[in-house]
Amino acid sequence: MFEQHVKDIINNYERKRMANGRKKEIRIKEVYEKVPKIEEIDKEIRFTGISLSRSILMGQGNPDEIIENMKNKIEKLKQEKAILLTENNIPLNYLEDEYDCTQCHDKGYLSNGSKCSCFKQQLINYAFSMSNLSNILEKENFHTFDINVFSDEPYEEGLISPRENMLDILNVSEGFVFNFDNANEENLLFYGSTGLGKTFLINCISKALLNKGKMVIYQTAFKLIEILESIRFGEKSNNNDKYNLIFDADLLVIDDLGTEMTNSFTNSELFNIINSRLLANKKTIISTNLSPKEIIERYDDRIFSRVFSKFTILHFYGHDLRWEVK
Ligand SMILES: [Zn+2]
Repeated sequence: MFEQHVKDIINNYERKRMANGRKKEIRIKEVYEKVPKIEEIDKEIRFTGISLSRSILMGQGNPDEIIENMKNKIEKLKQEKAILLTENNIPLNYLEDEYDCTQCHDKGYLSNGSKCSCFKQQLINYAFSMSNLSNILEKENFHTFDINVFSDEPYEEGLISPRENMLDILNVSEGFVFNFDNANEENLLFYGSTGLGKTFLINCISKALLNKGKMVIYQTAFKLIEILESIRFGEKSNNNDKYNLIFDADLLVIDDLGTEMTNSFTNSELFNIINSRLLANKKTIISTNLSPKEIIERYDDRIFSRVFSKFTILHFYGHDLRWEVK
């Protein structure tokens, strides 16, 4: 199922590299026009390199000495160039190559031959129909999160205000992103009724992790089970890649747990996913409208004991925000 898509992705990388190359040419031209001396220095650096190899080929003198001299010369030229750039208020990296992905330099593959996470994320977006996710994440991220939409009036006796509660949750969520690479057993379970910011916060976390080059799968429980069913009943070879991604992804978000049809198959599949990911030290976030009591009633013992022992449980409460936001 991936073959055509893999070709498209590889073509896109090529286009991206060419586009970035063109942009670099434009920047170079701009700088040369502004500071012609820099063009001269670049020419001299190139010439020094060429004459270095020539001198060595022709056996002119001690190669080590020649190399040492040339190195010093190039170093001096580069310093001179850096000074000129600074004097003209041009950032030092302005003439360097620019990449969308700093890990693979927009090649899609790492030097050891394996696919870069940016490549895998594109496969995920395709396999799990998540292509509109990036649009959502532009709008919903930690920078656009507004704590003031949460009331600081007491909501229920004995509970801190929804705003204070949300500050705690925000803290845990930011810690989750910050410590993501640590091998701790931190996973998150968000519960509470709709319209209290669960999905928004999950979007914030996903965005921050995607920015860190992590692979994120974001599915509702309903969709996830649908996919698992189709993998179970569909053609194996077509679906294996997709199935493996569920275990490979750095973060799996299962949104709206409880909206899927539960039966013994879905129960054991869910347990298998959550458990395998825990064992592989891969993190999972679950959000649900169910209370812990309802989760216990609804799912297999194995699921809730795993979830309750290895997940940080966070309660969202307050007034439905969808009516309060302009
Ligand atoms: Zn990459």
